[in-house]
Amino acid sequence: MRADVEHVVSIFGLDQDSARMLLRDYNWNSERLIEKYMDNPTEVQIKAGLQNPKGAPSSVTPIAQPTTTRRSTRKSTAPISPVATKFVCPICCDDEPPATLSLQCGHQFCSNCWAQYLEGKVREEGECTIRCMENGCSLLVPDSFIKQHGGTPVYDRFEELVMRHYVAHIAHLKFCPAPGCTDTVSCRAAATKSALETMVPAVTCSQGHTFCFGCNVDSDHRPVLCRIARFWLKKCQDDSETANWIKTNTKECTKCQSTIEKNGGCNHMTCKKCKHEFCWVCMGPWVDHGTQWYSCNRYDDKAAIDARDAQSKSRISLERYLHYYNRWANHEQSARLSADLFAKTEKKMEEMQLTTELTWIEVQFAKKAVEEVLRCRTTLKWTYAMAYYLEKSNAKELFEDNQRDLEKAVEDLSELLESPIEPETIPDLRSKMTNKTVYVQKRNEIMLEDTANGFKEGRWTWNETVTL
Ligand SMILES: [Zn+2]
Ligand SMILES: [Zn+2]
Ligand SMILES: [Zn+2]
Ligand SMILES: [Zn+2]
Ligand SMILES: [Zn+2]
Ligand SMILES: [Zn+2]
Repeated sequence: MRADVEHVVSIFGLDQDSARMLLRDYNWNSERLIEKYMDNPTEVQIKAGLQNPKGAPSSVTPIAQPTTTRRSTRKSTAPISPVATKFVCPICCDDEPPATLSLQCGHQFCSNCWAQYLEGKVREEGECTIRCMENGCSLLVPDSFIKQHGGTPVYDRFEELVMRHYVAHIAHLKFCPAPGCTDTVSCRAAATKSALETMVPAVTCSQGHTFCFGCNVDSDHRPVLCRIARFWLKKCQDDSETANWIKTNTKECTKCQSTIEKNGGCNHMTCKKCKHEFCWVCMGPWVDHGTQWYSCNRYDDKAAIDARDAQSKSRISLERYLHYYNRWANHEQSARLSADLFAKTEKKMEEMQLTTELTWIEVQFAKKAVEEVLRCRTTLKWTYAMAYYLEKSNAKELFEDNQRDLEKAVEDLSELLESPIEPETIPDLRSKMTNKTVYVQKRNEIMLEDTANGFKEGRWTWNETVTL
């Protein structure tokens, strides 16, 4: 920002204030400003509010420069100036204000009213374009005037607003959206709209907050493009009522029909009554999930064909949507449950650290594992949104292979996270969990890298539900 201001200052010999005000008026497009200013400086200055057009409302006794008329502290009956004695503030009607102030236009108001006005504009309205208080006068209040008469808190906030204005208009800059974070992130690769067709600009600020530079849909919606992510969320919103039932926390055991409640992030369910083990997501027997037959992640097209005879077409498309939505929502829920579970585990680990030989570093493995699980479940969640829109193809097959491998690895790690932690089991658990975490991390990288490359190569074909 400073460089842009200096540039304009050096070209036109303007003061800092004017350069900043002109740049703001041109939304920090210095090239355009310079071009227009060369053409007609007066017009540019009038438009930006640096000077009033001829014939604009002005006071009876215009004063060329910003002025301050202070009441004398001396006891004197002699008027200091005719303006000071006759002056009645048009806003508060105070006829003995401590001081009167005006901009170049000469519209005088008392200093109290100015201070109140500036504070209201800056602190309450969050405005960095502030004009003269006189009705119809479009003269801009210079930055230095705000600094001098607004007070430090008001000016600090004003500077922040100017910075926000700048960042908002520079395509490759963005503020971190995390609450309380004031970090600015630059991402030139994602500065154009067309770039978002081939990449997902997930960025991380210096404080470690990850967010998407291209949209505000989710903190990290890789591997799905911003546009498709928005599309999917819109669909979920529209279809939420039909889909709501699927999010319930209980399901019936497929064998004995007794009700089972899900209370952990792991999808490997065991019926308390008949000991039947099944998958929470596809309801299939869990034994199949450890083998090459594992196909929990694929939508079974044959079942869809069979169902077509019995059910209406709309029912089939709903089933298809629910297949993906169910898995999408489940990863979100599982991530939450894993985080809850970990909060309990962490307490236990801390206690253990106090009562055993274990060091702080040594009890961090579970934390790392949970963080990885949360990250990967976010990826997995979005892979289902992507798969919903992907046209059936070899590329999609491979995509689903990667998805399955990642999912399997994440489920294994989730299950490990739920195993009981006792001082004597820790060394074994730690090595298992650490290895699994590394593996899961690798699978996630493969998934994300491969989809990202697919976008660059134009490998993905979309079905008719999404228009690209
Ligand atoms: Zn006043
Ligand atoms: Zn004015
Ligand atoms: Zn941040
Ligand atoms: Zn995005
Ligand atoms: Zn059962
Ligand atoms: Zn399953």
